[in-house]
Parts: sequence; structure tokens; C-alpha cells
Amino acid sequence: MSLRTKFMLALLLTGLAAVAMVGGLAYVGMTKKVDSLRRERAADSFHQAITAYLTQYGSWQDSPGPRGFERFMRAREQADERPPLSDGAQDEERRPPPEDRRGPPEDGQRPPPDEDRHGADDGRRPPPPGQGQGQSGRRGEPPYHFILVDPHYRVLLGAGVYEHDELLPEAARKDARPVRVNGQVLAYVSPEGVITPSKQELQYLAAMREALWYGVSGAAILALVLGLLISRGLGRTLGHLTSAVRAMHGGSLLQRVPVEGKDEVAELAAAFNAMSEKLARSHEELSESHQTILAQAEQLRELSVRDALTKLHNRRHFDEQASTLFSHAVRHKRPLSMVIGDIDFFKKINDQFSHATGDAVLRQVGEILRSHMRLSDLVARYGGEEFVIAFPETELAQAAALCDKLRAMIESFPWHQVHPDLKVTMSMGVCADLAAGTAEAMLQKADALLYRAKETGRNRVCFAA
Ligand code: GH3
Ligand code: MG
Ligand code: MG
Repeated sequence: MSLRTKFMLALLLTGLAAVAMVGGLAYVGMTKKVDSLRRERAADSFHQAITAYLTQYGSWQDSPGPRGFERFMRAREQADERPPLSDGAQDEERRPPPEDRRGPPEDGQRPPPDEDRHGADDGRRPPPPGQGQGQSGRRGEPPYHFILVDPHYRVLLGAGVYEHDELLPEAARKDARPVRVNGQVLAYVSPEGVITPSKQELQYLAAMREALWYGVSGAAILALVLGLLISRGLGRTLGHLTSAVRAMHGGSLLQRVPVEGKDEVAELAAAFNAMSEKLARSHEELSESHQTILAQAEQLRELSVRDALTKLHNRRHFDEQASTLFSHAVRHKRPLSMVIGDIDFFKKINDQFSHATGDAVLRQVGEILRSHMRLSDLVARYGGEEFVIAFPETELAQAAALCDKLRAMIESFPWHQVHPDLKVTMSMGVCADLAAGTAEAMLQKADALLYRAKETGRNRVCFAA
């Protein structure tokens, strides 16, 4: 479930609960209040009716009993222009069918007590109209029940609660209202039971319910609209944040989301922006230092394979690469020539002209060698004034010719520019014998040929198959 849905649901439930609680309490409270007012009015009316009835007959025992009281009440209702307890419309509904209507006993003439006079009503049967009289409810039901007891609290009308002639319990007596005729208490009236709502009251309650439904519907619509409005802003910022986090995951660390308002979500967006900026800066710095480290590592690697003075490769690098070249040549049955060259009388150069001149000679010889190599050739300073060269794919004769060319170049270089009396030559030994078994063995053979070149007068190239 999305955050927006949850948020709207929470608002909706809160709104509905609030309306239902307030509306429900109001509904129950109002219903109770109306009930109690109605009960009071009904009790008053009944009290008046029974007072008039007893005034007419002198006592309940001398009256025609419940049936007589029923007839008396109907007569009262007919006589009254105004209904005793409710509006005219309801009165029509309450009025008994015409065939049941009988006239009241003639004024001042007490009718003889009949079989009902002592109350055949046991209070448990459906109460006759006289019981709790005052108005009859819907569908012939009495709208309320009242208990009538004699001055000694013996039940005359039980309202479906007490038996006739039963003694009214002490607890029920405190609510009983005396019926006085000529200052004498002839009976007591006690309200009891449930009052059936009148049509008007039902309409009133229906209107209350309708208002409650309008309240619930209004609250629901308000909650939905509010939820939509608030969650839209929330969802938009969270959407920006999600996209930005995805972009960061994709590698674009510098992200910026809009900061709207001053709430917690806005704080989150601002914090995210700050974090993204810091992360991007740190990443940039890290990249820079990574590049520096890589460059330094490359420099170190270069230093480790280069000779500092001549910038040619060093002996270690040559040995490694020479082995690879040798293996390759053997495997593919390709020619490979190994050369070792040594500057003649270099000690004398140092001694005669200076160590610095010696260094300059070494650098220049290195430059001559390097500048006349192919890319696939390998040249290195092997130590002191010795240089080594590996010529892949080169037969002995070709290598010897190349070496002689290099030798001639060194000899003919204008060394007088370095020092007027300076002369430099180099002796070289060339070996192309793969049968030697290793690159190192080939070099040893070339070294032996170099020794021969030194022995035979220097400034020359000696080679052997
Ligand atoms: P040969 O013709 O027999 O090779 O004689 P040579 O003098 O060249 O050989 P020798 O081995 O006697 O002398 C080599 C000299 O090279 C000794 C050493 O002082 C010098 N040398 C070695 N390395 C360097 C260096 O890096 N710079 C300089 N200036 N001299 C170096
Ligand atoms: Mg030497
Ligand atoms: Mg030498």
C-alpha cells in the first residue's frame, strides 16, 4: 500500500471516527433528553387524566375499572380539541377505530361498577388501552405505561410490570406521584416501561440520522480532499528523493531535489541535498587522489624499470623481457639476436675529462641507441658503460649490420661538442643462437664475442651463429 493511500485512509478513518463519535453522542443525548421530556409530559397528562377520573368516581374501587378508564380517556380525547400529549396528526393515528368509541358516562352520574372495576388486568397480558392511557401508540401499542396504585400501594394498573393487587415495592414508591382529590390521596401514579416514539419524534430522529449521515459524508469528502492535497506534496518530494537516490546509485552523485516548505520532509530534502553535495565532493577528491596514486604508481613502476641516467630500461626489465622474447622466438621458430656493447676505455674518459663528462657520454650513447631502435626492439643499460639490445625477428647478419651501423654512429658523433678532445667508440658482441637454451645464455655468448672484439682491437662488432 502506498504512503499516499495510507495517509488518506488514516485521515478518512479519523474524520469518520470523529463525526461518528460527536454525532452519535449528540444523537443518543438528544434522544434521551426528548424521551425524558416526553415521559414527563405523558406522566403529567396521565396524572391529570387519572385525577379527573377519580374525581368523577370518588375512588378506583367505585369506578368501572380499566375498561371504564379506557372509555373515559377516549371521551377526553374526543372532547379535547388539542390532543393531550401530541400533535393532531398523531392523534388521528392514535384514535381507536370508531366502532370502539363509546361515550363517556353522563356527567355527575356514576356508572355502576362492572366486572372490571377491581381490575381484571393482571399487568402481564398486553395492556388494555386504559393502562398507561393518555395516548395509544402505533399499531395499537400504548405509547407509554404507567403504574397506578391505591393509597396503600396495591397495584391497580400494573403496566405489564406488576400483577394486579400486588404491593408496589419500596424502591418503586419514591417515584410515585400522589393523585389528590379534594385534598385526599386516592392513588399514586408511577411512570414505568419504555415509551414508544411518536411519529413526530420518529421524524425528528430520522432528521438527526440524516444530519449524521451528511456529517459523515462531509467528513469523508473533506478527509479525501485534504489527504489528496497533503499527500500530493509529500509524494512529490518523496518522488524527487527516490529519483535522486536512483541517479546516485547510477553514479551521478551530485543531485539536488527541490526543498518546499519547512516541515520534516523539507528538512529531509535539504539534508539529502547537503549529503549529496558532500558525497560528490568527497568522491571528486577521492578520484583525484586515486589518479595521483595511479600516476605515482606508474612513475614508481617506470622508475623501477628505467635507468635514471640514460632513461633506458634497466637490467632487471631487460632480463624479464628478454626471457619472454626468447620463449616466443623458440615457440614460433622465429629469429632473435642478442647484443652486448661496451664503451671502449671508458675509465680513461672519466679520468681524463671528468665523471660528469663520462655521464654525458653515457646519456648520449643511450640516446643514439634508443633513437635507432624499432618499437619491437629492446634496449637497456646493463650496468656501468655496458648496453644490451634484443632484436626480435632479426637474423644474425642483419643484427650484425645494424650493430655496425650503431657502432659507426657512436664513433662519428660530434663528441668534440662535449669536449674538444673527446672520442668515443663502442665494441659489440652479437649472438643469434637460440640453441644456447636461454636468453641469459645467449647474452653470455654475446659477452664472449664482445671480449673477442675488445681483444681484437675494440671499436668493432663480433658475431657468431
Ligand atoms: P674497456 O675498454 O676494456 O672496456 O675499458 P674500460 O675502461 O671501459 O673498462 P673498465 O671496466 O675498466 O672501466 C669502466 C668504468 O666505468 C669504471 C667506472 O668508474 C666507470 N663507470 C661505471 N659506471 C659509471 C657511471 O655511471 N658514470 C661514470 N661516469 N662512470 C661510470
Ligand atoms: Mg665494462
Ligand atoms: Mg668499457
